[in-house]
Amino acid sequence: MRLLDHVTTLKGVGPKKAEALSRLGIRTLEDLVLFFPRTYEDRSSVTDIDQLRTGDKCLVKGRVIRKYVNRYGRKQRLVLKVKDHTGGIEVVFFNASYIAKAVQEGEEYLFYGQVSENRAHLQMIHPSFEKDDGRRGLVPVYPLTKGISQNEIRKLQMQVRDLYDEAEDILPEALREKGRLCPMDYALRNIHFASDVKSLQEARYRFIYDELLVMQTGLFAVRKNIRENRNGIAFEAKGAEKEYVASLPYELTGAQKRAVAEISADLESTKVMNRLIQGDVGSGKTAVAEVAMYKAVKSGYQAVMMAPTEILAKQHYEGMSASFAAHGIKVGLLTGSLGAAARREVLEGLRDGSIQILVGTHAVIQPDVQFHDLGLVITDEQHRFGVDQRTLLKDKGTNPNVLVMTATPIPRTLAVVLYGDLDVSVIDELPPGRQKIDTKCVSSKARPGVYDFVEDQLRDGGQAYVVTPLIEESEAVEARSAEEVAEELTERFDSYNVALIHGAMKQKEKDDIMERFVNGQIDILVATVVIEVGINVPNASVMVIENAERFGLAQLHQLRGRVGRGSRKSYCVLIMGSSSEIAKKRGEIMEQSNDGFFIAEEDLKLRGPGEIFGTRQHGLPDLNIADLAKHLKILDHAKATALDIVKEDPGLDSEKYSVLRRRVVKLFGEEFILNL
Ligand code: ADP
Ligand code: MG
Repeated sequence: MRLLDHVTTLKGVGPKKAEALSRLGIRTLEDLVLFFPRTYEDRSSVTDIDQLRTGDKCLVKGRVIRKYVNRYGRKQRLVLKVKDHTGGIEVVFFNASYIAKAVQEGEEYLFYGQVSENRAHLQMIHPSFEKDDGRRGLVPVYPLTKGISQNEIRKLQMQVRDLYDEAEDILPEALREKGRLCPMDYALRNIHFASDVKSLQEARYRFIYDELLVMQTGLFAVRKNIRENRNGIAFEAKGAEKEYVASLPYELTGAQKRAVAEISADLESTKVMNRLIQGDVGSGKTAVAEVAMYKAVKSGYQAVMMAPTEILAKQHYEGMSASFAAHGIKVGLLTGSLGAAARREVLEGLRDGSIQILVGTHAVIQPDVQFHDLGLVITDEQHRFGVDQRTLLKDKGTNPNVLVMTATPIPRTLAVVLYGDLDVSVIDELPPGRQKIDTKCVSSKARPGVYDFVEDQLRDGGQAYVVTPLIEESEAVEARSAEEVAEELTERFDSYNVALIHGAMKQKEKDDIMERFVNGQIDILVATVVIEVGINVPNASVMVIENAERFGLAQLHQLRGRVGRGSRKSYCVLIMGSSSEIAKKRGEIMEQSNDGFFIAEEDLKLRGPGEIFGTRQHGLPDLNIADLAKHLKILDHAKATALDIVKEDPGLDSEKYSVLRRRVVKLFGEEFILNL
């Protein structure tokens, strides 16, 4: 018997069983050895019946003193009266004639299951049961498929026990010891046949680590950037950043200063910068980006910033033209709605170098956009762009330095996985004077009171956003459309200006409305999620979100970030149309915290990484034993090891990494490895 033999070499496995096993991904004996339990039943000791408590999962040893079948609705109900020396319990099975046959009155059995209560009687419903063979301990529970029972898998696992010594380790001895990991044979023995909780934990740690290591190695290896590119442009204007910082109307926060220092060091070296700035909404990422752009220009290069929406691009453009004009630097704007003549002028300015900084939407990656000498590319709100778009932007220059910015609260740890090739600067501090945005969840019954509150804010000189979800025609009955809400508000707030903005409007119209909102001519802006990212109107102090149950946590946090950007005390009201458990939980988290990173971690716990990121889409494989939401610490360790390995042997070509390489291929698929 060898590891790579087919499962049909096992006793009791014919073509039919083999097919069932293959549905579980088990084809070879090695697959079986690496097929891990889903959970364990703690059968280390028998509990006396008089010690049982409702809800406990317990092992009971007792004699069947009576057995009978009655009807329960349409079901057959098998009842066993079971007794030990301390008391009695009812064991119940539904529609289980095969059990009725298997269990004999007068015999003693072990029953394992959850204790429940039925009219003051203790019960166990559908426990697993067997004759006592004296074995105690942690019993593995494997994932199943049709045609294979729990007992069958356990027996097959018994058959392959002798192969554990043969199983190859993905890590060379030295790295295994460095990671304080238990040996492979020990890990296998204890993941399948744990003698106690401690050894099981060691085994699980080992395999979780291994799986994360394989994933992380794959991600690093495929991102060729890891082979440190030293053909980058070294910006020579050392210290230029200080001039720009000094010209800002405020002092940078400590976190901004740190980010600026990290970026400056990257920019001054010949290493190509590949840096992600993660900063919560309102943390001042734009200023940091401006510093980097200033440094590029002072070193004789151009810089470009790409933003996801016209509104945002325009806002950046306006801010930057003003602040860079003071330094004699010319900024250009390029968006889809630019007229032909204006566009031609911008393109020319870029080619001859008279425009030193370009701001725009994805219009900046059009083929006819050419730069004179592009040294720095920045993507704002990068999660709104695809990988190809970011690549196209980068290709506008020759090894330009790259900065990507995001406010989408990606948990730090996951950012590390998703952007394994990027250096990360975290801006985890808000500019001084920002106050907590008070947040409250209410039902739609409370709407009149909410409007009164909004009116107080307006009277006090503030402005308000009211956001509605995007809705499909067919759902119109349940959710309030933006039009509907705008109409209602216009009536209710007849002495104020209410305006509506939504995605289907012409750009000109949207710009117009935004401008009037910025100038304070509009008091209440009713919007669909077009305003989700980036917009900065410091005077706005209330954010009302209709049908808040339809938004995810990350989106709610982004939306809320539109207020509280100036010195005004700000508020966010979430109006819940209905509330599922998860919507309620989200509401609580929003009320509790203003911290984007905390919210992101909570979101991850609520939804799991798959749902947040569409793991496949980001090139993340489905994991078996590891869980990105739970095993962040282990991930950190595995990542460090993966980085060492890939630095030493980027293609995993050496003999000692051949097993690791095979596992990477297995986890990601053949297609993936072509890129290695
Ligand atoms: P975001 O990180 O969400 O992109 P912005 O860059 O739009 O945030 O900054 C939000 C607001 O904070 C802007 O009005 C900006 O001028 C202001 N700001 C940024 N940094 C500071 C600072 N250090 N002190 C005071 N205000 C700041
Ligand atoms: Mg921003």
